[in-house]
Amino acid sequence: MLDMEPHRRAIVFFENRALPRQTLTEQTASTGRTTSRLHPIAHSILMGLSIFSLCLLSLITHPHFDLSTLWLANAFMLGMLVRFPSLATWGTWLCATMGFMLSDMLIGTDLLANIILNIGNLVSVAAGYWCLASLPRQDQMLKRPQSILYFFRAILVASCAAGLMGAIINPVLFGTASFRGFVFWAAAEIINYTALLPILLTLPSLRKTDHIRMKRWAQGITLQRFTPFAALVISAFAGVMIGGPGAIAFPVPALLWCALTYKLFTTSFISFIFATWTLLAIRSELLSVGFSLEESRSMLISTRLGVTLIALTPLVVASVMAAQEELLERLRLQADRDVMTGLRNRRAFFEDGAAILFTPFGTDTGTTTTVMMLDIDHFKKINDTYGHSAGDLVLVAFAEIVQQNVRPQDMIGRIGGEEFAIILPDCGPKLAVDIADRINWMLRGTSLKLDDGRFVSATVSIGVHVEKGQRELDHWLGHADKALYHAKNAGRNRWELSPASRTLALAS
Ligand code: GH3
Ligand code: MG
Ligand code: MG
Repeated sequence: MLDMEPHRRAIVFFENRALPRQTLTEQTASTGRTTSRLHPIAHSILMGLSIFSLCLLSLITHPHFDLSTLWLANAFMLGMLVRFPSLATWGTWLCATMGFMLSDMLIGTDLLANIILNIGNLVSVAAGYWCLASLPRQDQMLKRPQSILYFFRAILVASCAAGLMGAIINPVLFGTASFRGFVFWAAAEIINYTALLPILLTLPSLRKTDHIRMKRWAQGITLQRFTPFAALVISAFAGVMIGGPGAIAFPVPALLWCALTYKLFTTSFISFIFATWTLLAIRSELLSVGFSLEESRSMLISTRLGVTLIALTPLVVASVMAAQEELLERLRLQADRDVMTGLRNRRAFFEDGAAILFTPFGTDTGTTTTVMMLDIDHFKKINDTYGHSAGDLVLVAFAEIVQQNVRPQDMIGRIGGEEFAIILPDCGPKLAVDIADRINWMLRGTSLKLDDGRFVSATVSIGVHVEKGQRELDHWLGHADKALYHAKNAGRNRWELSPASRTLALAS
């Protein structure tokens, strides 16, 4: 978009070389996203160890594998591979295979059974991965209304793959019918995947610099937010008190309420708790449903499948809610942006700015914040000389320069025609002056080529206010505006610190 005149570019380079560049670069680098410092091999080994521990846990608690066993290793491996695609390497598959086999060796499973059973596990995970890996990220994280259908298709494919292995394994290892093996393995896998997989797929990613999101999230935590969960506990208790087969479905309205209130991840977690609690309560006869799970194998399969499928219902609602939320977020973002520069518009800047200045994630009494007011010099003259569209071009170029020179966590707003403001959390006078200086110099050294062949350039005056503690946004802007007034009076094309900031700058 910018077409810089060559000799002007040289000026930018020359002038910027004189700046203490390192200070800004260091600060910027230290606030970037967090990336895992672990080597990929370490990830694979961790996966192997996790699989080993989960298998061992299931095998020790239920040495004779039956349908009551919660076999979490397959669902865990599938969920992690889909959620964190960098894990999907041959090393991870190798380590996982070792994890599966070592746990069986430890409890004394004979080698043939060990190999065949774990081929069954790996084939099931591979089939599920084949279904989920190629889906768009939004669907993998169950964030669209139809995602749950893709999710269920993947579970069915993974479970049928396990079922087919069961159909082969059962006659060979246990001398029972193939069909029985198919049903037994497929049903067990549907239950295991449905229980654990949604939690892993909807696991939120942590973003360190997202102050406003965290602020909104923290504001959302009120006692009222726990009401749907309290309703779930009460309905489960009512089920225990009243009993009968219908008691299994008592918590359904509360589950749906939870899905309408909480995020996808929380809903997945609550669904998991519901399924686990209900099955444990029926098994221990705390919840007397009028039949015993030990009565027959088909009763056990039917109940377990029924309960896990009920637990899937809130996820459908939560997925629709997540899709709607995302659409709203997109609309909100559009409403918050200034169309010309892409920066926050005045309203959004004042709203978000007020939030960041009062959040514990933004400023507190210990940290220093900077607020800058920036006003392009003699902008009216630029319009008058080169035309309104040339003025617009200058505004866009200026917005780009500002964005290039601040850190990811800084908040820029276009608060008037050619007036801008920046909030820089955790930014002392030295860094503030460095940033203001760079913006001044870069704009001064930039020349824009117009359609008629002429070149237009501009300068900016900046008022800088630095202070410790939490204050109203108007307080910060008032001081920064006074400093801007001084910068204009002192000849424009410069920055000035507010008198209050000067004391802080001298002390630092
Ligand atoms: P000073 O150095 O004192 O700030 O002088 P100035 O000319 O920049 O200030 P003044 O407030 O007199 O003029 C601002 C001008 O900005 C007037 C207005 O026409 C122009 N302006 C406001 N919004 C836009 C816009 O979106 N595009 C263009 N091209 N001009 C705009
Ligand atoms: Mg102005
Ligand atoms: Mg102006």
